[in-house]
Amino acid sequence: MDFLTVELNDFSRQWDSIGESAAAAFRRVGGSGWYVLGSEVAGFEAALARSWPIGHVIGTGTGLDALEIALRCLGVGAGDLVLTTPLSSFASTLAVLRAGAIPVFADVDRCGLLDLALCRKICAQEPRIRCLLVVHLYGCPLDLEALESLKRDFQLNVVEDCAQSIGATWKGRATGTVGQISATSFYPTKNLGSLGDGGAVLTSSSDLADRSRALRDYGRTSKYVHDEIGLNSRLDECQAAILGDALLPRLSEWAGRRRAIASRYRAEIRNRWLELPEIPPQASSNFHLFPVLAPPGERDSFVRFLKARGIMTGCHYPRLIPEQRALVRYCDFQVLTELDQAKRFAENEVSLPVHHFLTDEEVDHVIGCAHRWSPA
Ligand SMILES: *Cc1c(COP(=O)(O)O)cnc(C)c1O
Repeated sequence: MDFLTVELNDFSRQWDSIGESAAAAFRRVGGSGWYVLGSEVAGFEAALARSWPIGHVIGTGTGLDALEIALRCLGVGAGDLVLTTPLSSFASTLAVLRAGAIPVFADVDRCGLLDLALCRKICAQEPRIRCLLVVHLYGCPLDLEALESLKRDFQLNVVEDCAQSIGATWKGRATGTVGQISATSFYPTKNLGSLGDGGAVLTSSSDLADRSRALRDYGRTSKYVHDEIGLNSRLDECQAAILGDALLPRLSEWAGRRRAIASRYRAEIRNRWLELPEIPPQASSNFHLFPVLAPPGERDSFVRFLKARGIMTGCHYPRLIPEQRALVRYCDFQVLTELDQAKRFAENEVSLPVHHFLTDEEVDHVIGCAHRWSPA
């Protein structure tokens, strides 16, 4: 058979797997009569802090808000330059803009991640850059040692966007532990994806943790006392209970499944037309996504070939952030280098299904089809 539906994400299988414990969590919160910032949020924050591991987790309404809070905690504000990647969810840059700062873009490397060697040159030439916002894209960790020395040598504020990188490590060290402060997301498609929006700030500093707690809750430091202009961005009790009871306990099993699928893809998709970005041996990706690059001009043909055989794909991301109309029309920003590598991803990247509910038969089908395709 040459047709088998393979979804990019499979929420109905997820519900089959977690539905009962999620419903029990929902009933518990419903019956408790306490729905915002209570013991469920505190319990989930502590559980995630243990498993990450990182000193403090502060639940927020979304990953975007967590990034904005992280930047603002570091004092990033009006007119500050923040060096970041042109290839990410728009949210990475939107957080910089919402903090009032100016995004500054440099090219990515051959894996699609911000090129830290290039960042080093830029920081040496442009002392006004005091802050770096990096993204562990596709779940692949950046070189955390290179990031750490960049931070140290230029005394940078570093925010790590870990929305895609929960569980990913570099030489065993978790992403999110180099920056003074980091952020993640529980948006449904993420590896720890809830049944709605949610996010978290991560930090080992108790001062930054306190400030994040204030900023997510109207800038409140105690009842009716507001010392800063905050947000309303609280993880709610229901999402926290579902995350803590139904999702987080299964994360490591799911991560193992994603890794197994990804290593089969790497070993068995042997197609000279497709490039599988090389992951450094020190990096342990969580395979939030599995990117491949089609030859120039051939992406649509590859995507159509897979779709005709039932295989859904994604594209991360087809338009570079500095080319988005929202920036071009309304914002100050700078592009400091050619963006040749980033453009290569924008034009040629295809994300294959790699979610943890794929069956072996579906994995076989993806491998078989990706293996067979060639340009017309
Ligand atoms: C999903 C995502 C975000 C934003 O998270 P939300 O919870 O959707 O606001 C930020 N950065 C990256 C890289 C993401 O993938």
